[in-house]
Amino acid sequence: MKYDVIIIGAGPGGIFSAYELIRRNEKLKIAVFESGYPLEKRRCPIDGKKVKSCIKCPVCAIMSGFGGAGAFSDGKYNITNDFGGTLYEHIGREEALGLMRYVDEINRTHGGGDTKMYSTAGTQFKKVCLQNKLKLLDASVRHLGTDINYIVLEKLYEELKDKIEFHFQSSVEEIRAADQGYRVISGGQGYECGKCIISVGRSGSKWMETVCKSLGIETKSNRVDIGVRVELPAVVFSHLTDELYESKIVYRTEKFEDNVRTFCMNPYGIVVNENTNGIITVNGHSYEGEDKRTENTNFALLVAKHFSEPFKDSNGYGESIARLSNMLGGGVIVQRFGDLVRGRRTNEKRLEESTVVPTLAATPGDLSLVLPKRILDGIIEMVYALDKIAPGTANDDTLLYGVEVKFYNMEVEIDENLESRYQGLYIIGDGSGVTHSLSHASASGVYVARRITG
Ligand SMILES: Cc1cc2nc3c(=O)[nH]c(=O)nc-3n(C[C@H](O)[C@H](O)[C@H](O)COP(=O)(O)OP(=O)(O)OC[C@H]3O[C@@H](n4cnc5c(N)ncnc54)[C@H](O)[C@@H]3O)c2cc1C
Repeated sequence: MKYDVIIIGAGPGGIFSAYELIRRNEKLKIAVFESGYPLEKRRCPIDGKKVKSCIKCPVCAIMSGFGGAGAFSDGKYNITNDFGGTLYEHIGREEALGLMRYVDEINRTHGGGDTKMYSTAGTQFKKVCLQNKLKLLDASVRHLGTDINYIVLEKLYEELKDKIEFHFQSSVEEIRAADQGYRVISGGQGYECGKCIISVGRSGSKWMETVCKSLGIETKSNRVDIGVRVELPAVVFSHLTDELYESKIVYRTEKFEDNVRTFCMNPYGIVVNENTNGIITVNGHSYEGEDKRTENTNFALLVAKHFSEPFKDSNGYGESIARLSNMLGGGVIVQRFGDLVRGRRTNEKRLEESTVVPTLAATPGDLSLVLPKRILDGIIEMVYALDKIAPGTANDDTLLYGVEVKFYNMEVEIDENLESRYQGLYIIGDGSGVTHSLSHASASGVYVARRITG
């Protein structure tokens, strides 16, 4: 079987490469190989009754399948070079922003047209933050919400499914250089292609490592972000979230001069479990529809850890901390802020009496037994700093879930075309280590499609 292009992974990177390739040349023969299921068959077995916690499915329905890790996400498409990846280092700032706007246009014409775009331009909160030693990062963000994000994916699939061959439940095992292209092995069978786009995201990181080793592609890995997810009454943050939806705020701690930042803010949202390679961490999302809103807002507070030689396994470090919380709590641990600063464990009784009703059934416990002191001190300082711009953040009943880990894929050596040292072998999206977000991953997909079609 010979294809012009084979795409590995049907997350935003893979979907937007496919979309742009076929838009620019309808005659191209394209196949997409995806480990997970089609969108409508993606079901996490946790139902809160029979299955209460993660049973570690071989292919996680939350992370894999059409739509990738973003399918059930909050669908926040941030248009910025300030965070979400370093695509601009390869393709330039203007090009990166232009592509993110183009992706936004596609989302709008595929069901996202009525959703809102928020922006930090001209906001008074920049000054308020600076007056309190906090820095608000610049961005425009389209909030699709989990519900509309799903609809957009449905429409994109509908448009692509007759023009492109989709192979679901088809993990790619190996890639070999072949005559004038590549041989992709899936299910023991070989498929030939002229060009190959690898877009395997976070869940494909271990596999990506083996591919890079076998093909001699250079990689580096030195960063992991570790922290907690904060949940509090939505009114505490509503003055910020109503205007900006998501505010990315950075604080430099006094004690260690570490940067702590807010990440993935979900107004009126829910806190959820996330399974990465069998390790349970915490995340959050929210819905666009009013009927699905909760009374809480959640966001992560993360501390970036950069390692230098000789230590190389930054993700291994993050995994060990997450494993520790899994060992103590059987999964995610939740603690009241008041209990944390008093040095005591949150138990069922204290949690029941809390004025903040948790949206995730996590195990009450003590995060100080899990998180390294330096990270925990930074988080506590940041909670007090945020309390100055959003009074109530440092209330005793504010809930902290741990641990939230933001793993970074190792960075793969690719050039300004997002092409590896092998001609026609492109590595894009989160799997390349260059992007860490929906908009950057999608933009990288459009970019390589344009490089291929000329
Ligand atoms: C709960 C959650 C919420 C999030 N919320 C947001 C948000 O609001 N905004 C934001 O910007 N980002 C968010 N993110 C991050 C965002 O989802 C990712 O940055 C984005 O999905 C990356 O896209 P990608 O295409 O590079 O990879 P992915 O979306 O991870 O897709 C990769 C695909 O490749 C498949 N794959 C892996 N290995 C193989 C293989 N060997 N063979 C075949 N297929 C393979 C996987 O099954 C997967 O479907 C969230 C992530 C999670 C988990």
